[in-house]
Amino acid sequence: MRSLQSEIEQRGQRIFELVDKHPEPLFSKAGFYQRLMMLSMRDEQLKQQLFRFVDVLPSLRTSGEIVQHLQEYFAEARDSQKVSEFLGAGVRLARVVPWISGPILRWNVSEMARQFIAGRNPDDVMRTLRKRRAQKIGFTVDLLGEAVVNETETDEYAARYLDLLEGLSRETKDWTDPLGKNSALFPVVNLSVKISALYSQINPADPADAIAHLAPKLRPLLRRARNVGAFINFDMESYAHKNITLELFKTVFTEEEFKNWPHAGIVTQAYLRDSEADLRDLIEWGRARGTRFAVRLVKGAYWDYETAKSRQNGWDCPVYLQKPESDTNFETLTRLLLENESVVTSAFGSHNVRSIAHAQAFADELGVDRSRFEFQLLYGMAGPIKRALVDMGYRVREYCPVGELLPGMSYLVRRLLENTSNEGFLRAKFSDNVPAAELLRNPREILHRSRNGVLPPLNSTINMTKNTPKTQPGAPYDNAPLTNFALPENQEKMRAALREQRKQFGRKVPLTINGEKIWTDKMFSSVNPSQPDQIVGYAAEADIPEAERAVTAARAAFEKWRRTSFEQRCELLERVAEILERRRFELSALEVFEVGKPWSQADGDIAEAIDFCTFYARRMRLLGRPRLTQNVPGEESYQHYWPRGVALVIAPWNFPMAILCGMVSAALVTGNTVIMKPSEQSVIIGAMLMEIYEEAGVPPGVLNFLNGKGSVIGAHMVDHKDVDLIAFTGSREVGLWIWESAGKTREGQRELKRVICEMGGKNAMIVDSDADLDEAIVDSIYSAFGFQGQKCSALSRLIVLEENHDRVMERLLGAAASVRVGNPEEAGVVVGPVIDEAAYRRILDYIEVGKSEATLAYQAKDVPPHGYFIPPTIFTGVKSNMRIAREEIFGPVLSVIKVRDLDEAIEVANGTDYALTGGFFSRSPANIERIKAQLEAGNVYINRPCTGAIVGRHPFGGFKMSGSGTKAGGEDYLLNFLIPRVVTENVTRHGLAPEKTPEYREEFLWPKK
Ligand SMILES: Cc1cc2nc3c(=O)[nH]c(=O)nc-3n(C[C@H](O)[C@H](O)[C@H](O)COP(=O)(O)OP(=O)(O)OC[C@H]3O[C@@H](n4cnc5c(N)ncnc54)[C@H](O)[C@@H]3O)c2cc1C
Repeated sequence: MRSLQSEIEQRGQRIFELVDKHPEPLFSKAGFYQRLMMLSMRDEQLKQQLFRFVDVLPSLRTSGEIVQHLQEYFAEARDSQKVSEFLGAGVRLARVVPWISGPILRWNVSEMARQFIAGRNPDDVMRTLRKRRAQKIGFTVDLLGEAVVNETETDEYAARYLDLLEGLSRETKDWTDPLGKNSALFPVVNLSVKISALYSQINPADPADAIAHLAPKLRPLLRRARNVGAFINFDMESYAHKNITLELFKTVFTEEEFKNWPHAGIVTQAYLRDSEADLRDLIEWGRARGTRFAVRLVKGAYWDYETAKSRQNGWDCPVYLQKPESDTNFETLTRLLLENESVVTSAFGSHNVRSIAHAQAFADELGVDRSRFEFQLLYGMAGPIKRALVDMGYRVREYCPVGELLPGMSYLVRRLLENTSNEGFLRAKFSDNVPAAELLRNPREILHRSRNGVLPPLNSTINMTKNTPKTQPGAPYDNAPLTNFALPENQEKMRAALREQRKQFGRKVPLTINGEKIWTDKMFSSVNPSQPDQIVGYAAEADIPEAERAVTAARAAFEKWRRTSFEQRCELLERVAEILERRRFELSALEVFEVGKPWSQADGDIAEAIDFCTFYARRMRLLGRPRLTQNVPGEESYQHYWPRGVALVIAPWNFPMAILCGMVSAALVTGNTVIMKPSEQSVIIGAMLMEIYEEAGVPPGVLNFLNGKGSVIGAHMVDHKDVDLIAFTGSREVGLWIWESAGKTREGQRELKRVICEMGGKNAMIVDSDADLDEAIVDSIYSAFGFQGQKCSALSRLIVLEENHDRVMERLLGAAASVRVGNPEEAGVVVGPVIDEAAYRRILDYIEVGKSEATLAYQAKDVPPHGYFIPPTIFTGVKSNMRIAREEIFGPVLSVIKVRDLDEAIEVANGTDYALTGGFFSRSPANIERIKAQLEAGNVYINRPCTGAIVGRHPFGGFKMSGSGTKAGGEDYLLNFLIPRVVTENVTRHGLAPEKTPEYREEFLWPKK
């Protein structure tokens, strides 16, 4: 008996022989498409530009716009000669007669898309399906669409799927199975469904909610499919949706109604590390269910996205990093499927002849008849392979996307990327002409060789190791990873933490002064804004005498703390970071109750606090050592830093751990002693930070915890002669008062007070006429309404170019109506309650102002009746001089301002007192450059939300009335807490000067310990 490998080779060779009988280049369409592919494969940078241009083209309305984009994208192209050859008539004519070249290009791109899109609509696609039928190729049809951003769009989608199903079953009534054998397993009509198109608010953290919304949308489709004898397949999308898709599949097909229906299938992506476990679980489920089901095995279409996303978030990467690992796993899963043929019908979705030949050989080895499984390939790709498989007597089905060009753009770009990928089989075979023997090699062997160092590891630049804080100078800085709530174990941990925190309701926290716990007569209660009758905790309230004691303690502790080595101070911060990490879920859960943060935002707040500790520790190690200013023979000049003295930290409630911890940690690591005054609304979280610092070993008096009214103790300490520095984040009103008051020199004051002052914003996002609305809408809604709009970075003015206005509004209003408002204890809630009654009343007042000034375009109706819930609200027809466009509201209220063009958009965006964050959605390189240069904001965000700054990556802070220009989480932030000092020594003695002066000295500590 021949070995499996030689069977595979024999089958592979046979496929290649058949393929070579009808030779076809990879890019069979001559002209535009072929040139695009060739250029892309030659130059990675050019490929990026070309694909970006292809991406924006369908949304451009006029020829002038097309030509302008063309010039912007390719003005800098290194290979400009080649580019103009490729664009041919397009670019040459562009300069002379734009109205000719625009349509030519659009036509070219449409033609290219036609190669991958089987039809524009259900009628159109029938022509293709009939042709394929003649070639004995079956079909599965998929509906292309824009990313759905609201529930109106998902309803339309569900209706389109139903129409498609009706049309297909009507038109194919008398079609028979091409193999005429085992046809009961393979209905003629086969529909591929994407669950993300059926519910716009899928939150990976809340599978139950997703299933509750998706199942009712699916059932009518499934019923109809069962009645007409069709097959429904659930496609698999990004990893974040994987568990929900699996769960949904199992849930629905276990229901009585569908339990005995065998014509349901799902996809397994072999590039996922957990795919084998998932497939085993599915097979077990299928066995218990007692009815056949189907699995389409693919490698996976989102490799670049998954690797980038996991790197951004610091998560373990869910996909294999080396191509042969995915290939090997594909073969492992092929075996698993075929070995369980009694319960699962397999479809192998691949264009890779090795993967295909392996499935054929293994099926033969097991004696599984070739009519009992099928190969599936994509429309417009690998035509000769399809033909070869049909000739060999295999069952072949083509995956046929249906839809218009614009909604199908992301599908088209995925196919272009796949076809030009260095790693892909199609390119290797049909473009690079790699020999058959090489293409048929066992992927395990390639892997084995690579481990021995014979082959360089693929994608070796990607470092996916778990991010542990490394704070030594020179080490790359890694942020604390966010919790991935798509993982069930994390969902469970959060639920357990919420249960635990409930039990702690009503706890009491004291003041901490000089290491002593102090209880006062007055207790302040902190309530749950979702249910104000629930008291999260009570905190002792300080008055002037306690404030005096705290200042005295901090002053006394200063002399010793300033001389504690910076290394010890850095280590303190690192211990705090470790404790925060250990108590992460507990603290996040506390934030859900005390300030109404949704899960992921609460987790983000704790992650940011950890980052502040590790980042500032790392910065201090660089700043701590005195550094030579210039190398001059005979003289040594070293610059170094002294702490300022006693720091008063006044923090807000909206980032109750991160901002408090950030300001406190910066002050402490630089050698200042601190009085921290958390916001009254988040005092329990503030007390937790004190507890954590104590556990980490902060000496008595170095950090003091003082809860009390800002107007009483805050004001007293701001004016205090023994307070040297004030770090404040909060409202403009209080910030300006502190700024002014700290400017007065009091009797006995040693230092000019330094004020670090971060205040609010009236942040604008501009939507350009060529913006990708799928992204612009989702990100605007998130920026405006996430955490109830209570971030200083939140979006409050959406500036839309008039060309786009109506389309933006239609989708925006629908998206706002689909956002989940509710108690943030529930995992998927996006909008919770505002912080307290005063905020609630103030925001409602602003809504009344808005109604009198502009047009109320949308206001949510169903918000919980108790608690401080404000319905997300959108005003249109807003003018830049109106109060709702000028004043900070700090709630879920968005003003939409229509403008003529980008000039006016910039003028409006900049025409406020504030300059904190600003955003821009556009696909015009020139306009993007303009915004980068002209938007007045401390943090400018392009094509992404305007909230969510990450320590180290996006140093955060604004100017004008938004702040004093400091950047929290930035390289130079610590300098605000320090006094620079230079020590110069003449080291020449009678003309004798040392030859070398060290760049760094040890710390100047006096007296040395
Ligand atoms: C009929 C059909 C239906 C499909 N449905 C889905 C679906 O529902 N969901 C989905 O996600 N995809 C789906 N796909 C797309 C499919 O995942 C890709 O088209 C396919 O992976 C290309 O694989 P291949 O075996 O044809 O080619 P190959 O060239 O052998 O493999 C390319 C694949 O290898 C993987 N890969 C590339 N580089 C690396 C690397 N460095 N490390 C590890 N792995 C790497 C990627 O998955 C890439 O797509 C479908 C494909 C077909 C044919």
